[in-house]
Amino acid sequence: MDESRRAELAGNLTRVRERIEAACVEAGRDPAEVSLIAVTKFFPASDIELLVELGVRAIGENRDQEAAAKVAELARRQDVEVHFIGQLQTNKAGSVVSYADVVQSVDRPKLVAALDRAAGARGVRPGVLVQVSLDEPPDRGGVEPQGAAALADQVAGCEHLELRGVMAVAPLGADPAPAFARLREVAHGIQHVHPDASWISAGMSGDLEAAVAQGATHLRVGSAILGSRQSHR
Ligand SMILES: *Cc1c(COP(=O)(O)O)cnc(C)c1O
Repeated sequence: MDESRRAELAGNLTRVRERIEAACVEAGRDPAEVSLIAVTKFFPASDIELLVELGVRAIGENRDQEAAAKVAELARRQDVEVHFIGQLQTNKAGSVVSYADVVQSVDRPKLVAALDRAAGARGVRPGVLVQVSLDEPPDRGGVEPQGAAALADQVAGCEHLELRGVMAVAPLGADPAPAFARLREVAHGIQHVHPDASWISAGMSGDLEAAVAQGATHLRVGSAILGSRQSHR
């Protein structure tokens, strides 16, 4: 069972890496500029272990309880960077900073303040991405593009948080290219003031090529690597 799952994950991972390379060639970019984050939500810690053996160095999770339990189970915790990518309640800040190296879904001042306090109390300094909403109107989390720079300034001013850049999810049912282009503009505006905030997290299983074409530095890929949720529950 483990062996067939390993083979399945290995095949999927190879196909995803080939897609990323092809997209980089198409966009004239160096594949070394683009990091892959395997989104392991809904899948067990044993899959994370297999992915780490297959060379994956970053995972994404979107629910606090599930993430905390799985990360605690990992034998090779130090070999993998853990990204929190889901909508986050302020009262979960303390839990999230206990296991996440990067919090990608930071979209409001109260959450920034809560994460800074929690990180300080724990003696950690997680990376933070400002989540930008590309939906009209915004409805799935994320700050509106006009508000992103101010939120980034707030993160950069926090003693216990490290501003790394921006994150977004493409709008549902629309061409992702113009949305990712907008994200890139927002990212560049922030980089003008905070040159180290160079990450642009965009692109998932269905739209990673469009994200690479628009300058994404981090791709969050779930189903193309792990399979669909139903088949492995
Ligand atoms: C689930 C999820 C992904 C991965 O989506 P796939 O389509 O399965 O690749 C990426 N980003 C966020 C924020 C997610 O919740």
